[in-house]
Amino acid sequence: MTRKFIVGGNFKMNGSVSSLNTLIEGLNQGDLDSNVEIVVSPPFVYLDQVRKSVRKDIAVAGQNCYHKTSGAYTGEVAPEMLKDLGIEWVILGHSERREIFKESDDEIGAKVAHALKTGLKVMACVGESLEEREANKTTEVVFRQLAAIAKQINDWSDVVVAYEPVWAIGTGKVATPDQAQEVHKAIREWLSTNVSAETAAATRIMYGGSVNAGNASTLAKEEDVDGFLVGGASLKPEFVTICNAKA
Ligand code: PEP
Repeated sequence: MTRKFIVGGNFKMNGSVSSLNTLIEGLNQGDLDSNVEIVVSPPFVYLDQVRKSVRKDIAVAGQNCYHKTSGAYTGEVAPEMLKDLGIEWVILGHSERREIFKESDDEIGAKVAHALKTGLKVMACVGESLEEREANKTTEVVFRQLAAIAKQINDWSDVVVAYEPVWAIGTGKVATPDQAQEVHKAIREWLSTNVSAETAAATRIMYGGSVNAGNASTLAKEEDVDGFLVGGASLKPEFVTICNAKA
C-alpha cells in the first residue's frame, strides 16, 4: 500500500495580510516535490486570502470548526462555512484546542463526524503529554483519543491522523525517529484491530512536534511516518525543505 506523503503547515494564531502574502509568495515560487500533498492552515480570517493566492496544488485547511451547521454559537465557525469558502481540510483535536480550550475527546469526535459529513477532509490530532509519557500511558491516551473518533465515524478515507506528542509541540524537543515510529505503528495496529485492516493500511499518519529542516528527512524515513504537521517552521522558508523531505 502506497500512502501519499502529506505535509501540513499549521500557522496557528500568527500572520497578517502582509506577512501571509509574503509567505504564500515564497511557497508559490518554491520547488516542491509533486509527490507530496501540501496543506496550509492560516487563521480563519485569512483563509479566503490564502485560498485565493496560493498555488492550486496546495490545499487550505481551517484550524478548527464546530459540530453544528449554524445557529447561536457566537465565535464558532461551521464546517459548512469552510466548504462555502472552497476550503478542503480542517485540523481537529489539536492539543492546544484540547488543553487551552478544554475540548473533550467526545466533542472532538463530534467535530470530526460533522466535518466529514460536510465533505471536509480532516487532520485528526492525537498525542500524550510529557506526564502521560513518563507514566507509560502514551498508547492508552492515544487509543482513547482515537476511540472517541472511531465511535462517531465509519469511514476513515478522508481522515489523516496526526500524532503530535504534546511535549514536542513548539518546544524544540522533537521525538526521535524511533519514538515516532513506535507510536505510529501502534496507531496503525489499533486501526487494524478496531476499524479494519484496509483502513489501517490506507490511513496516513503524520508526525507533528518541532519538525524542522534539520530533522525532517530522518523522520520521513520511518515506515509508518506518512507526513508531518508543522507549526513554527511552517512560517519560515525552511517549510519548503520539510515538504521535500521524503524526496
Ligand atoms: C503544531 O502546532 O501542530 C506543531 C507541531 O507545532 P511545532 O511544529 O511548532 O512544534
